[in-house]
Amino acid sequence: MGIERLFIANRGEIAVRIVRAAQSLGIHTIQAHSEADAEMLAVRMADEAVCIGPAQAAKSYLDVDAVVKAAKDAGADAVHPGYGFLAESPAFARAVVEAGMIFVGPSADTIQSMGDKVSARQAAGTAGVPVVPGSDGRVDDMETAAEIAERIGYPVMIKASAGGGGRGIRIARTPEDLAKFAPQARQEAQAAFGDGGIYIEKVIPQPRHIEVQVLADGTRAVHCFERECSLQRRRQKVWEEAPAFGLPEATRQAMCDAAVDLAEAVEYLGAGTVEYLYDARADKFYFIEMNTRIQVEHPVTEMITGLDLVALMIRVAGGEPLPVSQEEITLNGHAIEVRLNAEDPLKKFMPFPGVVGTLDLPESDGIRVDHFLYKGYQIPPFYDSLIGKLIVHAPTREAAIDKMAGALDAVRIDGLKTTIPLHKALAQSADVRAGRIHTQWLEPWLDAGNLTTDQTGGAS
Ligand code: ADP
Ligand code: ADP
Ligand code: MG
Repeated sequence: MGIERLFIANRGEIAVRIVRAAQSLGIHTIQAHSEADAEMLAVRMADEAVCIGPAQAAKSYLDVDAVVKAAKDAGADAVHPGYGFLAESPAFARAVVEAGMIFVGPSADTIQSMGDKVSARQAAGTAGVPVVPGSDGRVDDMETAAEIAERIGYPVMIKASAGGGGRGIRIARTPEDLAKFAPQARQEAQAAFGDGGIYIEKVIPQPRHIEVQVLADGTRAVHCFERECSLQRRRQKVWEEAPAFGLPEATRQAMCDAAVDLAEAVEYLGAGTVEYLYDARADKFYFIEMNTRIQVEHPVTEMITGLDLVALMIRVAGGEPLPVSQEEITLNGHAIEVRLNAEDPLKKFMPFPGVVGTLDLPESDGIRVDHFLYKGYQIPPFYDSLIGKLIVHAPTREAAIDKMAGALDAVRIDGLKTTIPLHKALAQSADVRAGRIHTQWLEPWLDAGNLTTDQTGGAS
């Protein structure tokens, strides 16, 4: 039957991305926005725009009733949630469907079982996917927590079942830490996610974060190879690549196959990502979680496969069987994405909202910028600081890093502080170039003062 009128329940660069994909499919777009976002780029691009509430996200982008009512009133037949906000809320997916519309993503039940990290670990285990050693379920009392930690060995991670966005994670190095942090973690999880469930996982030392993109239509799933997201700060991704570098072919195949098995086991529909930690020394990988939505870093996969993941997720949501076979998805070259945030990396990444001045975003063969900026745009201070992503594609990783360095030199965003100086320094780093990186590499590198005041880069 297909989708004819799509309601976009998100903001920023991903809203722009979704409007573009929908328009390429000939779908009428209705862009939601808060009072603070009336001037955002996606509002200007969409066929229609609807205000869903005040600036405060809790009263607009996170308000299930307000969003569903706005979509219904606008005559939408489908809702795209983007990432963040309500993208992984089973209650939202259910409400959209109960109101007679299509949710662009998997079923509410699938979101529920994969969104809860404890039940996701169980589903992965059942599908034969290796998981990080840890508790079998939620940990409710301190005695059990101590027993499990003793069995798997310290240090351990205390994680919130409902956690996300790098939040709700603590490390306990000793039984004393555990006794102190577990109750705190429970309270914090309750406050942040409305669910105080916690579980325990072994800390994998200096792991790499490698994740597999999947696409599925509820029956069949395919993978679109993997991404390397090991450059992280505060457990959030900063710089992402596709494919992962130096990964043995058999390991890549096993990771991709496991992701497909898991997606099929949960009758997955849409675009999703299976995240793993990779222990390079032991050549072993472990499932950590599945994200049941489009991800920030999806463009690197689009660059190496030539697929339009956002268009594909909309098509399968509309009832089309997956239009690509696994054999048709091939890997071409190397892509890198850097996250451009309105933050001052030289001042502890302090947010820096402001008015966009002169804007120069070079887009040419193999350089793509996903963003929501225009000259004179006032970036509202109420939301995530991501203002865009710079993505490059080249035949090899080395050429892609060179291309990134050149593109970063060519980008000009006046009026704001951005994370561009950080990325320039990373593109020059010998460790990054040699692939001597892991998820714990970036923070000590920053603490060691590798980022200095020189905008033009040049740090080691
Ligand atoms: P989130 O839902 O916040 O993304 P994840 O479980 O995906 O949480 O973990 C986020 C990041 O935290 C990972 O990419 C990794 O850097 C780190 N991490 C998570 N679990 C472990 C672990 N068991 N050992 C070491 N690092 C971990
Ligand atoms: P990705 O895996 O796509 O990189 P992230 O984990 O970085 O996704 O999250 C994408 C966006 O959604 C970020 O802006 C992040 O702050 C936000 N986000 C992720 N999980 C949550 C959550 N549970 N609650 C609120 N915001 C979240
Ligand atoms: Mg994650």
